[in-house]
Amino acid sequence: MASDQNWSNTGAPSGEHSRGDTLTAPTLPSDQNASGRTLGDAEIAALAEAIASGTLTPTKGTFVKRLEQRFAERLGSKHAYACSSGTAAIHAAIAAVNPEPGDEIITTSVTDMGALTPIVFQGAIPVFADVDHVTLNVTAETIAARISERTRAVIVTHLFGNPCDMGPIMELAHARGITVIEDCAQAYLARSGPALVGTIGHIGCFSLQQGKHVTTGEGGLITCNDADLARRLRMFINKAWPYGESSPDHEFLALNYRMSELQGAVGLAQLGKLDNVARTRVANAQELNDLLDGIDGLALPRVHPGDVHTYWKYCLRVDETVIPGGSDALGAALAEQGIASAPRYIRKPAFQCRVFSEQNTFGTSNWPFNLARSEAIDYAPESYPGTFRGLAEVLVLPWNESYTREHVSFIADAVRNAVARLTNGGAA
Ligand SMILES: *Cc1c(COP(=O)(O)O)cnc(C)c1O
Repeated sequence: MASDQNWSNTGAPSGEHSRGDTLTAPTLPSDQNASGRTLGDAEIAALAEAIASGTLTPTKGTFVKRLEQRFAERLGSKHAYACSSGTAAIHAAIAAVNPEPGDEIITTSVTDMGALTPIVFQGAIPVFADVDHVTLNVTAETIAARISERTRAVIVTHLFGNPCDMGPIMELAHARGITVIEDCAQAYLARSGPALVGTIGHIGCFSLQQGKHVTTGEGGLITCNDADLARRLRMFINKAWPYGESSPDHEFLALNYRMSELQGAVGLAQLGKLDNVARTRVANAQELNDLLDGIDGLALPRVHPGDVHTYWKYCLRVDETVIPGGSDALGAALAEQGIASAPRYIRKPAFQCRVFSEQNTFGTSNWPFNLARSEAIDYAPESYPGTFRGLAEVLVLPWNESYTREHVSFIADAVRNAVARLTNGGAA
């Protein structure tokens, strides 16, 4: 979805030095290159070892197995599996749930497309819940409103690193016998209450894509505490071949979504840096919170009391009745000062993308949408007040563990300047 493009020029905006100001804008570290990634000697050494071993498949090598073991240990999860992407992780989770064609999976329309299309590939119907306009996260209330006889699972996305309020969501899911899949692609080491995300629901899905907290370029991780679901997860990413079991057979429809040892080596080294990455992102965000406190028309990130937000991105909400032009105008004013932001994030809810609005799926069949209850595929904007308001107000700032004090105060000054200019009717 558009989110991939929004960040392609993060930290290297083309107009950066074009204003001829005396003030030279620092170039912000970017997660798209070495300036904002923690890739270094540890990754190179591990990669060299993997290559020297001559074994690059995880079915025979040791790096992916160690990555899985250490990730499970770090999260306190019984099982963890590495796979080829966050999308593959979500696909494996849906396949583990094993919905009947036309069964419903409740999800959010403010997410990455890779969290949605796997539902359709497994023959299930994505049913979009509305979100809280403040956090852009689904809630127990918005999920409850979409539950039907056919609901098999819910995917909760901890958007931007800010955890969903999991207590009431798990209560609802337990009461209705619904499997909970946590999409933690943006939320490594975030906590809902005392619990790490990815260990609260039945299955946790993570991405190791270039722009996430830690990366192998492309890659994914899955966590699970349930033995039966775990077996199906592991099978699904291995063509349903149960490695290590007696009398194995290809038991069900599945794919090869394995991670290679090359990625496993890099991932293992990256995992050693994850705690520090998360800690620094939180500390930097607290600094920006302090610097931006009290600006009229701007709302700072709101975290549920007792939770930990690990700031994949730093989001502001812009009140356009106070700041003329709202998030779009503020984003444009920041771009002039060398800061690439994403006003309105993905700009439109996922259900307005053609894959859903035109049901472009398998040939001309519309399958599986032709099996859906009409309420399940009702995308009327009136049903999504939180989604539209939240997307209209949000301004997403790139965020990074490599930001220094100077970078953070540069961002704060730029935001203050931009708001001052906009609220003075455009006068500089
Ligand atoms: C990045 C992301 C994904 C998809 O991960 P890929 O590794 O890009 O396939 C899924 N969900 C969310 C919330 C993401 O941010």
